[in-house]
Amino acid sequence: MIASRLAPFGTTIFTEMSALAQRTDAVNLGQGFPDTDGPREIIDAVTAAMGAGANQYAPLPGVPELRTAIAEHQHRHYDLDVDPDDGVQVTFGATEAIAAAMLGLLEPGDEVVVLEPFYDSYAATIAMAGARRRLVTLHAPDFAVDVDAIAAAAPGARMLLLNSPHNPTGRVLTRAELESIARTCVQHDLIVVTDEVYEHLVFDGEHIPLATLPGMSDRTLTISSAGKTFSFTGWKIGWCSGPVELVSAVRSAKQFLSFAGGTPFQHAIAGALRDVERHTAPLRESLRAGRDRLCDGLREAGFQLSVPAGGYFVNADASALGASDAREFCRELAERAGVVAIPTSAFYDDAEAAGGLVRFTFCKRPEVIDEGVRRLIAMSR
Ligand code: PMP
Ligand code: GLN
Repeated sequence: MIASRLAPFGTTIFTEMSALAQRTDAVNLGQGFPDTDGPREIIDAVTAAMGAGANQYAPLPGVPELRTAIAEHQHRHYDLDVDPDDGVQVTFGATEAIAAAMLGLLEPGDEVVVLEPFYDSYAATIAMAGARRRLVTLHAPDFAVDVDAIAAAAPGARMLLLNSPHNPTGRVLTRAELESIARTCVQHDLIVVTDEVYEHLVFDGEHIPLATLPGMSDRTLTISSAGKTFSFTGWKIGWCSGPVELVSAVRSAKQFLSFAGGTPFQHAIAGALRDVERHTAPLRESLRAGRDRLCDGLREAGFQLSVPAGGYFVNADASALGASDAREFCRELAERAGVVAIPTSAFYDDAEAAGGLVRFTFCKRPEVIDEGVRRLIAMSR
């Protein structure tokens, strides 16, 4: 009964692998969600907002305090000017912002340039809009962005959908890469949707929003989310900001997807966002330590990898451990080692391009990472 637009996408790999982790009682280094709560004071702000009566629908664009905090954040961190009323839209996580952008901005038959590997909802929501993806493939081990391939894919396309810091590779695109991409977008008059949910989780290098580059602010919709920034992935408070024309297209779609809710969470995130550095500095340090711990352990277990510069994930090549099909390898890994990971091929149309890569997350407590690593090392001996 599933509509043909959606039938190819099946059940998400995250759902499959987290269910497998539960069933096998494995250490879950698959789906990217922290196993510790975000700051207590932000939780208290939610209950305070509930106590103060913020319990009904939010205004469609989002509560004014949060929209103002988002606009101030874009100005303070990136010198970007967005209108807090018409240039900001609060959404049910970044996921809804992505879906509403595709549904609100694309005509059936439009083409969208996307880097592969891509976060899984990109392909599905492009398809839901009746549009098509034009893929530019990144290859291990360094996942360098082939800017010439992007330039070659751009003519005639309607949109570029970009993600930096990038899931699953952990790449943080460099200024030179972004400048070249920006020139391509201007030359071919593409609109751009950039997914920057890991903007505050950069360990090496610098996050540069594409919207800050010459010619880009008028054509770029920037998406982010409180889930990653404050470790509250279950609250699903996301947003997008940018020029009024792009944001109003998102709003047109969003009003019929979910209308507007999460009201007390929106109030709490407004306060948190005003103080984002105080909250994210310790998170970044603990993620950096988790990254180093996991990378060292995976190498000891026989995986080859390159160290990610940002985000939640490292991709390790399991070929030396006998993985020819990463999906099969991950299904077996739960049973053989008691560890769950995500086959990186799930983020590629061209599964071959992913080879034996397996994605592990390091957004877990040190003792959980250590136990996962201990099991992987034991398996590999
Ligand atoms: N984009 C990327 C690149 C992601 O990794 C994720 C999931 N963590 C999302 C979007 C979805 O974010 P949210 O949970 O806010 O919907
Ligand atoms: N973004 C997280 C990941 O990549 C999980 C998202 C999800 O479960 N849909 O693992």
